[in-house]
Formats: sequence, structure tokens, C-alpha cells
Amino acid sequence: MRVAVVTVGDELLSGDTVNTNASWLCDRLDERGVSVERVTTVPDRIADIARVVNEYRAEYDAVIVTGGVGPTHDDVTMDGVAAAFGRDVVPNADAAAWLDDHTDYAAADRTEGTTHLPDGAQHIPNPEGVAPGAVIDGVYVLPGVPSEMKAMFESVASEFEGERRHVETVRTSEPESALLDRLDAVREEFDVTVGSYPGDDVRLKVTAADAETAAAAAAWLRERVD
Ligand code: ATP
Ligand code: MG
Repeated sequence: MRVAVVTVGDELLSGDTVNTNASWLCDRLDERGVSVERVTTVPDRIADIARVVNEYRAEYDAVIVTGGVGPTHDDVTMDGVAAAFGRDVVPNADAAAWLDDHTDYAAADRTEGTTHLPDGAQHIPNPEGVAPGAVIDGVYVLPGVPSEMKAMFESVASEFEGERRHVETVRTSEPESALLDRLDAVREEFDVTVGSYPGDDVRLKVTAADAETAAAAAAWLRERVD
């Protein structure tokens, strides 16, 4: 399964908010064996959201959009997603019923537009807040507040499934440039991919389809690096 993540918010682009939602989603999707192929951040602007959602829904098996789903004036994500499908946002009866049954926000107290979702979308309940989520034709729309986004992703996580990969990590103090011969050799010897991530030391990430191959390749490398 190939997925794109779209995070929405001017505050992400200005650096005011660190985009932890993107890295959290990538981590959870990777754990489930899903290949995340795009992470894109767009401003709170309907046309920008619509353009990127339209492109990604054509290309990927699913798109996760997070941020800007509340009812305040700067929250335009539902409008952007609706526009990507050439639809309007309309009051969603399931979202209204869920708020009536599970929260203290009576219909009369709710800000106008609170339960508006793209026409034809299914409601995703928000157990941590007010803003409802939505799913429409493989496009999942979740709020930006991290606790809300996480709880709602978990409620649909089973819909994200891929081939699980097995990972082993090998650390070495050798410089990356000195390792090239052994990185080539391990890939010739075993059916693995190897990522190399320099930091204080170099972290080698060995990934394989089965645990035995990952472990054997990692052991092979550990014997040959300092
Ligand atoms: P609501 O309006 O219901 O609170 P929302 O979906 O409109 O939710 P935003 O207005 O986009 O969410 O953001 C709410 C808060 O969530 C922001 O102040 C920010 O702290 C946090 N947030 C939003 N997007 C991200 C993100 N990608 N990573 C981390 N935090 C985020
Ligand atoms: Mg908001």
C-alpha cells in the first residue's frame, strides 16, 4: 500500500509549530508495512489543498490530510478536500448525532459549520475533541491537534496495511565514505536494503522481508565494521 500524507497549516510553514504529526504518521504507517511516498505541507488555502489532494488521490492508494478541520475562519481543509472532488461541504447527520450523544456540545452551542463534511463523506468520530473527521474515497481528513489526530488515526489504522518489513540497526564509528565496499557487499550477499544515516556515529538500517535475513545481514555487517 502506497500512501501520501498532507499536513495543512500556515503555522507549520512559518516554523511556529513543529510538524510532529507528519513524523508520527510516517512512523505508524511504516510499522504497518505501508509505504509513505509523499509528505507535503500546504498553507490554509482551499486551492492549494484541493490541488495536492487531487494529485495524490490519483497517484496513491490513500491520502491522509491533517490540520485545519475546526470550524474557525482559518480552518478550510474540509472545503479544500471537497473541492478536490468537485463537491460542496454539507451538514453531516452522523457527525451531528455523534456530538449530540457523546459530548456536551449541544447543537445550539455549536459554531456554524462544525458538522460540515464533504458531500458523500463518511464521518470519523473524534473521541478527544469536537472537530469531526471524514473519509471520502480513500482520502482521510483528521484534525491537527496531535492527541485528536492520533486517536482518530488509530480508529482507522486497520485500513492501512502493507507488507511488514524487518529492521535491524548496526552502529559504527567508521566514516560513511569508508563503508561503501561493505554496504555494496552486504546487499550482494543478502536480499536487503541498507540505509546509512550519519550522526555522532553512523547508523546502518538493514531492512528485509523476513526477520532471519535481516538478522543474518546485520550480523555479517557487525563482524566487518568497527
Ligand atoms: P481544531 O480547530 O479543532 O482545534 P484543527 O484541525 O483546526 O483543530 P489546527 O487549527 O490546524 O487544527 O491546529 C490546532 C493545533 O494543533 C495547532 O495549534 C498546533 O499546535 C497543532 N498542530 C496542527 N498541525 C500540527 C502538526 N502537523 N504537527 C503538530 N502539531 C500540529
Ligand atoms: Mg483550527
